[in-house]
Amino acid sequence: MSLREPPAVRETLARAIGAARLRDGAAPRDLVDDLLPPVVARPESAGEVAELLGCAAREGFAVIPTAGGTRRAFGNPPERADVLLDLGALASLREWSPRDGVLVAEPALAVGDAERLVAADAQTLAGDWPVRSTGTLGGSAAAGRPPLDALGPAGPRWSVIGVEVALPDGTLRRHGARVAKNVAGFDVTRLHVGALGTLGVITEITLRARPRAGRKSETPFSESNAFRANVLGPDGTEVAAVELRMPGGRLAPAEPPTTLCLDEPADSASARDRFRAWLARWREVASAANGVAIVLAAPPSWKRDVDVWCGEPPAALPLMRKLKALYDPTRVLNPGRYVAGL
Ligand SMILES: Cc1cc2nc3c(=O)[nH]c(=O)nc-3n(C[C@H](O)[C@H](O)[C@H](O)COP(=O)(O)OP(=O)(O)OC[C@H]3O[C@@H](n4cnc5c(N)ncnc54)[C@H](O)[C@@H]3O)c2cc1C
Repeated sequence: MSLREPPAVRETLARAIGAARLRDGAAPRDLVDDLLPPVVARPESAGEVAELLGCAAREGFAVIPTAGGTRRAFGNPPERADVLLDLGALASLREWSPRDGVLVAEPALAVGDAERLVAADAQTLAGDWPVRSTGTLGGSAAAGRPPLDALGPAGPRWSVIGVEVALPDGTLRRHGARVAKNVAGFDVTRLHVGALGTLGVITEITLRARPRAGRKSETPFSESNAFRANVLGPDGTEVAAVELRMPGGRLAPAEPPTTLCLDEPADSASARDRFRAWLARWREVASAANGVAIVLAAPPSWKRDVDVWCGEPPAALPLMRKLKALYDPTRVLNPGRYVAGL
């Protein structure tokens, strides 16, 4: 729910990036869980993204970045949603150098398009990218998860060697470079990979590619037992999905079932209770295998009833809170969606 009057949000943003970049939010295509941001902004340059974020931070508008939209509702339901920041216009390829195996692109270039481009030179994106999804490079880097069919668990983080990010202080910052061994000091580039757009908005991304022949996992882990468990409604449609990762290649036990079939309507209290109990059981199993059970998708009321992440606060939570306070002190970027409601 927005705390601001839609016309006030729109007028204020129009002064920052121009009215032509704005439209009213419309259900269902602009919904973020069950929140409808009153304004959708579609900037056409990184500078406009930074202007918008600076304005949002001054005014206290909550901003939800989105690109491909395939995981728009991933994470906890946001606390507020004033502006849906549609990055779809920033989809250009900036550079592809087959000789160096380096690709530089705007964030909304589709992962599949990038993979096809490098495949034409017998290369593949390094790391594990969801090449069969319609997601974008920026969205996949922000979500930061390896696909479930990945050969290893490292995901996009493995190959991102540089980013440009727009920050809530209204600035653009560059980190990393176009050579892989470029890090002197803290590796700030990778801080933005897997941050789910809670620290900044990726406006340019630099990736490594590598020769396609002999594709094998590049990660230091030998095995990863990752799979998707789900909940089906009485009509057989998927109501919720959970990502399970069990390091060490442990096989899934017979109980709990990987598919929970509901007899009752998905919006009933009993369905929500059964989901909560089923998820809790999976979390016990995952925890015993040093793994995680993360809710990928579920009705917003179910997500509000559980922590979609892991249930247990991570040991680094105090440090994560400090980073959030440093990058986004007024909590305008995806507020509440990330681990422990960051
Ligand atoms: C846990 C998980 C498991 C997945 N498993 C698979 C799989 O097994 N196979 C498969 O093919 N695909 C899988 N996907 C989907 C694939 O990763 C998505 O297509 C991709 O992550 C999202 O891309 P998108 O452009 O649609 O992002 P969106 O849905 O638009 O955004 C995703 C998140 O990133 C943020 N965001 C988007 N763009 C930016 C940006 N430029 N800067 C900062 N933040 C941004 C958004 O606010 C949102 O929180 C998985 C995704 C997740 C999250």
